Amino acid sequence: MKRRDFLQTTALLGGALALPAKAYPTLLPGKKPQHVLIIGAGFSGLAAAYKLKKEGIKVTILEARNRVGGRVFSHQPINGESQTIELGAEWVGASHERVLELCNEFNLELFDNRFETDLIYRGEHTKAGGWSLSPELETFWQNKQSYWDRLSSKEKEKMDRMDWWRFLSRKGFTDRDIDIRELLDSTDFGESIRKVSSYCALAEYAESSEKNEMDLKIIGGNDQLAKKMAVAIGDEAILLGKKVTRVDQSKEGVTLTCSNGEVYQADRLICTAPTYMVLKINWQPGLPAGMSEALHALQYARIGKFPIVFSERFWGRENFDCITDGVGHYFYHGTKDQPGKKGVLIAYAVGDKAEVLNSQPKEARMRLILDSLRPAFGDLSSMVSGETSYYWGKDAYSYGAYAQYGLGQWFDLMPELKKPFRSVYFAGEHLAEWQGFMEGAINSGEEVVEQMLS
Ligand SMILES: Cc1cc2nc3c(=O)[nH]c(=O)nc-3n(C[C@H](O)[C@H](O)[C@H](O)COP(=O)(O)OP(=O)(O)OC[C@H]3O[C@@H](n4cnc5c(N)ncnc54)[C@H](O)[C@@H]3O)c2cc1C
Repeated sequence: MKRRDFLQTTALLGGALALPAKAYPTLLPGKKPQHVLIIGAGFSGLAAAYKLKKEGIKVTILEARNRVGGRVFSHQPINGESQTIELGAEWVGASHERVLELCNEFNLELFDNRFETDLIYRGEHTKAGGWSLSPELETFWQNKQSYWDRLSSKEKEKMDRMDWWRFLSRKGFTDRDIDIRELLDSTDFGESIRKVSSYCALAEYAESSEKNEMDLKIIGGNDQLAKKMAVAIGDEAILLGKKVTRVDQSKEGVTLTCSNGEVYQADRLICTAPTYMVLKINWQPGLPAGMSEALHALQYARIGKFPIVFSERFWGRENFDCITDGVGHYFYHGTKDQPGKKGVLIAYAVGDKAEVLNSQPKEARMRLILDSLRPAFGDLSSMVSGETSYYWGKDAYSYGAYAQYGLGQWFDLMPELKKPFRSVYFAGEHLAEWQGFMEGAINSGEEVVEQMLS
């Protein structure tokens, strides 16, 4: 049973997990809005705006940053050259239907962004194909889909209250198995697997493509899709550098005030801001207690991307990536299949490791990152020709990379956060079945428009 089916089934059964569609009184029920304001020009806000525009409804997006895309943030790391790397979302999954459909609609091409993974563990380097986990864990992994399919709803609920680390250790896998799964899986969730619900982990792995949705990337950068959507919505409808600080609701609709004092009014609002930013807004009337508690309870993953430009691609193959037990954590070739002698390896660190790397002075950070690769390549310092860093744990408009539902939170928090509040609807990756993905952000933006117009 897919996560979505599970949520719907429990709702039909009328259990405690039921998703209330409209729990707070919504103003103007059923009336088609003339004008909708949207907070945020990330994929969720852009997808909502694009759908509203197709419905013939006027839309205005207010975006705090000076660019569209939000947590999709493409970057050219080498002066005077065109290679593009991603400081935010990297992979488009083979199962991510809406992203793929939109790329097709806007004539954007994608390329194969799959990697073969080396391992550096306890000071030893093993090339891709040369390492594996215990036969017991390999067998479990191969059969995870059927294991998942056999679980009852009650068992899945129970799994949501147990962390992924404990789930694996209770199955009796070896310490090495669990260490390596910690390294691999914490890159997906952005925090240690001791903090990740085993329900969320198994749901993701059982239902994902073979490479766990690390499949494709848009040629020229993933922000190309944000830019194309922005053009289709109309530049005049997207106002950049407008940080919303206050939302007033009345019988007439919603009034938004920005940090520069500007005021905007419309019938309805879609708020796609991450939860930390929702809490920074002065809501009049105040947000319902249940929602406010849920907003405070949801944590976000701390991910840092630390790209290093090397004078040559010493790693030897375009599809190189490497999981390490060093502070640099996970490395992948950010300029895969892009021309040029130079190349970029991106150190992708999560949780405390990301926090530590971010807090170091530049030279100390570089040393820590390069030391993670030392067992495989020795001293690389002479080949470094540039570096960038982006730590999402301190990003001014998200304070995290993506939501990280903790133990027992998936079924309780998400329904609370999804409830419309009078004329305000909420969307964003944190409210989607494909949570933590661009696909989830788009699905959520589109779904909230359907909900508003139904
Ligand atoms: C490091 C990293 C790696 C990732 N890797 C992948 C990946 O490989 N594949 C994948 O599919 N996804 C990945 N993601 C997740 C993906 O980027 C997100 O799920 C998606 O982009 C979120 O879109 P959104 O519209 O929900 O939120 P956002 O993109 O955050 O958009 C919300 C917008 O609201 C704006 N905003 C916030 N507060 C206010 C305010 N008060 N007033 C006005 N504007 C405001 C923000 O500036 C932002 O632009 C990754 C994310 C990160 C950070």
